[in-house]
Amino acid sequence: MGAGDAIGAGTLREFHARSIADREGFWREQAALIDWHAPFERVLDYSKPPFTRWFVGGRTNLCHNAVDRHLAARRDQPALIFVSTETDTERVFTFGELHREVVRMAAIMRELGVRRGDRVLIYMPMIPEAAFAMLACARIGAIHSVVFGGFASHSLASRIDDASPVLVVSADAGSRAGKVVPYKPLLDAAIDMAGNKPANVLMVDRGLAPFERVAGRDRDYAALRERHLDAEVPVEWLESNEVSYTLYTSGTTGVPKGVQRDVGGHAVALAASMKYIFCGNPGETYFSTSDIGWVVGHSYIVYGPLIAGMATIMYEGTPLRPDAGILWQLVEKYRVTVMFSAPTAIRVLKKQDPSWLSRHDLSSLRTLFLAGEPLDEPTARWIGEALGKPIVDNYWQTETGWPILTVAHGVEKTPTRLGSPGMPMYGYDLRLLHEQTGEEVGVNEKGVVAIVPPLPPGCMQTVWGDDERFVKTYFSTIPGKLVYSTFDWGIRDEDGYYFILGRTDDVINVAGHRLGTREIEESLSSHQAVAECAVVGVADSLKGQVAMAFVVLKDPARVAAPEARMALEGELMATVDKQLGAVARPSRVHFVTLLPKTRSGKVLRRSIQAICEARDPGDLTTIEDPGALEQLRRAVGLEA
Ligand code: AMP
Repeated sequence: MGAGDAIGAGTLREFHARSIADREGFWREQAALIDWHAPFERVLDYSKPPFTRWFVGGRTNLCHNAVDRHLAARRDQPALIFVSTETDTERVFTFGELHREVVRMAAIMRELGVRRGDRVLIYMPMIPEAAFAMLACARIGAIHSVVFGGFASHSLASRIDDASPVLVVSADAGSRAGKVVPYKPLLDAAIDMAGNKPANVLMVDRGLAPFERVAGRDRDYAALRERHLDAEVPVEWLESNEVSYTLYTSGTTGVPKGVQRDVGGHAVALAASMKYIFCGNPGETYFSTSDIGWVVGHSYIVYGPLIAGMATIMYEGTPLRPDAGILWQLVEKYRVTVMFSAPTAIRVLKKQDPSWLSRHDLSSLRTLFLAGEPLDEPTARWIGEALGKPIVDNYWQTETGWPILTVAHGVEKTPTRLGSPGMPMYGYDLRLLHEQTGEEVGVNEKGVVAIVPPLPPGCMQTVWGDDERFVKTYFSTIPGKLVYSTFDWGIRDEDGYYFILGRTDDVINVAGHRLGTREIEESLSSHQAVAECAVVGVADSLKGQVAMAFVVLKDPARVAAPEARMALEGELMATVDKQLGAVARPSRVHFVTLLPKTRSGKVLRRSIQAICEARDPGDLTTIEDPGALEQLRRAVGLEA
């Protein structure tokens, strides 16, 4: 009997209650969902709060659990299905073939001097080699740090500096909506900028964009692979709390945080989520439309489905090319049972002819999961009716690695409720706390979504290289209480369903991509014409939010003429594109001569945001100069 069978019965509420009341017993049972090379001595070590160590002393390996352990039963079954509508490529790797490629990649990494505990930075488009590189790192105990391909040189340089990788794995280019996006010039510029330079850069040449090679540093993947076709690289059995990866995420400062994850807890958490939340079975196909550069791509393109013995689709392309039926065509072709996407992708499809949804046989599909940003009711209703399948919203963060709020149909068929991501998942002792007093709020009252530690397996261990920042950022915001803050507002209704009401900090969410407004402000401020600026997130019907910038120039006369204004707006957008990437580009740059600030000089970002959304800007008694608000209203086309 599997671990879950023993406790799968009962309601979600009971399941959750037990996971908190008997943490060790609960997670000991879940640990049986993965292979251990050596058993753990203790389920949980919480002797140094809030640092949490799961499955102490146990030895395991993520690559073994995702690949090797399936070889006996499914060597010839699909494991990685690569589809690129950008390059018209489709390729299916069986578990046996995936194993071969991962071992070859691991052998290359070894040859290039990568050792256990070393960092490998992966800056790649959605191609199979990216997954090989992640799994190869896991195999040899190297720590991967994937940087989203949409980020540009400045963002990349700060991540290279923080991770100090011995190796960078990259490719000549990605492709988006038919347009080649060269990666190598951005990478070269980033390495030039970075203080910690990698010894080697492993280049996958897709033949999309010719590039310069730096002698002695840049290596050719295809040539090295040839040398290691028959390589054998055994897995390194890692202690459960060794580091598997870091993934950078934006916060309120301009410096991204490296979210650090372990090995054993991570594997167990993903295996459990595949069983209880996603209900995926071995031999089936999982399709997540995310990107490996985001946490969803880590958990639910690469590790989660493979650990569960499922085939996973890696898709390079948009939801609209060659036509608006492409996602559903893939569901039909590969008999997808579990699908994971983001509300923005669905809103994009909603603008197309609805008949695209009925042109394909979707009988294999059981559930569509959506996450990454708030799921608005009209979108949820539209896609649910159009597909005739359950739509399951799920709320979580890079920091947690797997859902905090959702429904767990592997435990109980709890109904979903429009507008709500659901209920607390097992392992999360979730509370809604008053921002100032730290007291729990009542039913239907707004509070900060907080988790009482210890955090469950799979959640971040710390901020890479900065334990103090981990404690200070996440555990010090609620007065007098050592609790983890999600930085989201929420409410809970009388039946226990939660609703997420937006961030408590300056983080914005553009098409499911989390961005720190501070980073964008710093980028704009690097332009010599800018004196100061403020960036806020403004509601957008397609992308959820967009970034909007308000800039004070050193010389306001510079934009007196409309042409000059437009030219400078374009220049500032190009600055952000070049430094951070197009994902961070503000949708508009407005020029003003002053920003609304408190008398102590703090920019009133929430008021700016409210004005942009034509809402009441709130309490403005502390504002230094009300004239700033009038300017702002004029700038965004609203009367004062
Ligand atoms: P990231 O770490 O980039 O995945 O962003 C996490 C943030 O996205 C959360 O803190 C929320 O603000 C938001 N978010 C993610 N999923 C949801 C959801 N299902 N509903 C509402 N907000 C969400």
